[in-house]
Amino acid sequence: MYDVIVVGAGPAGLTSALYLRRANKSVLVLEANTYGGQIINASNIENYPGIESISGFDYATNLYNQVKKLGAEIKYETVLRVEDDKTVVTNKGSYQAKAVIIATGSEKRKLNIPKEEDFVGKGVSYCATCDGNFYKGKVVAVTGGGNTALEDAIYLSDLASKVYLIHRRDEFRAEPTYVHVVRNKDNIELILNSNIVEINGEDSIKSIIIKDNMNNTKVLDIDGLFIAVGQEPKNEIFKNIVDLNDKGYIITSDDVHTKTPGIYAAGDTRVKDLRQLTTAVGDGSNAAMAAIKEMKNI
Ligand code: NAP
Repeated sequence: MYDVIVVGAGPAGLTSALYLRRANKSVLVLEANTYGGQIINASNIENYPGIESISGFDYATNLYNQVKKLGAEIKYETVLRVEDDKTVVTNKGSYQAKAVIIATGSEKRKLNIPKEEDFVGKGVSYCATCDGNFYKGKVVAVTGGGNTALEDAIYLSDLASKVYLIHRRDEFRAEPTYVHVVRNKDNIELILNSNIVEINGEDSIKSIIIKDNMNNTKVLDIDGLFIAVGQEPKNEIFKNIVDLNDKGYIITSDDVHTKTPGIYAAGDTRVKDLRQLTTAVGDGSNAAMAAIKEMKNI
């Protein structure tokens, strides 16, 4: 029996584990993939208070090591379901806790156009910092209008000879700082009010076809396509213990409480206005403290 099981080893989940261990609670963190969540792929974090600049990998690794040092148990297992009695069933076993914190973040959204899946690893990528190095001196396209897409375009513009930034509207939702940079980089060309409708190539991508709002089409010859069109939660497995909104995010009250006592949600996985590193770690600490407070009454 653990005091708390945390599902997900991203910034929210690891912060919960940090606070729980500092309060001397036993903690099991279950992670299906690797620690760090989405932030591990960020080329550079520049909006975390107190840290002027740090790579996503260094940030995630520091946090992971900090939590391990404090004695949290971390297992790489896929959670299959959580019962309302706080039994957590994974692909390898079953664990029991007094409270569960769901911090499973979200996954990269697909464009859902023909051949997108076929070209993954052959020119289509969802991670600029992972794959950008393969495109030194080449021509790439990034699609999306949020912080991720613009950060990716900026990162790739230092590697590739040319970056097309394709966005379906003429306004970006990314922070103005990034918008200013992409508008002023010589080798970034903005293609606005446009969607990618086709990917072409044989062994690897050769070109994409884009269509603008007036239904005009254009072929762009490219070597790589980076898709950064947002995130989607994967909360179906928790439907028995939490309510989800129409987009699949967990509905919470008072920040981190779900409808089931002793089950909390933290980070990108829950309904919230701002999904950032700062708000993820805020949720992580709130969920831990809520669990600690309520465990006293169990
Ligand atoms: P996002 O902010 O949700 O932006 C997704 C972008 O993709 C939007 O511009 C959207 O267009 C576009 N899009 C969505 N579906 C599309 C489709 N089917 N076809 C074409 N375009 C599509 O996602 P994100 O950039 O991944 O960021 C996710 C969260 O992480 C945000 O809260 C963001 O602020 C945060 N983040 C923060 C940082 C940072 O602080 N440094 C870095 C990265 C991410 P519309 O604008 O037209 O909807």
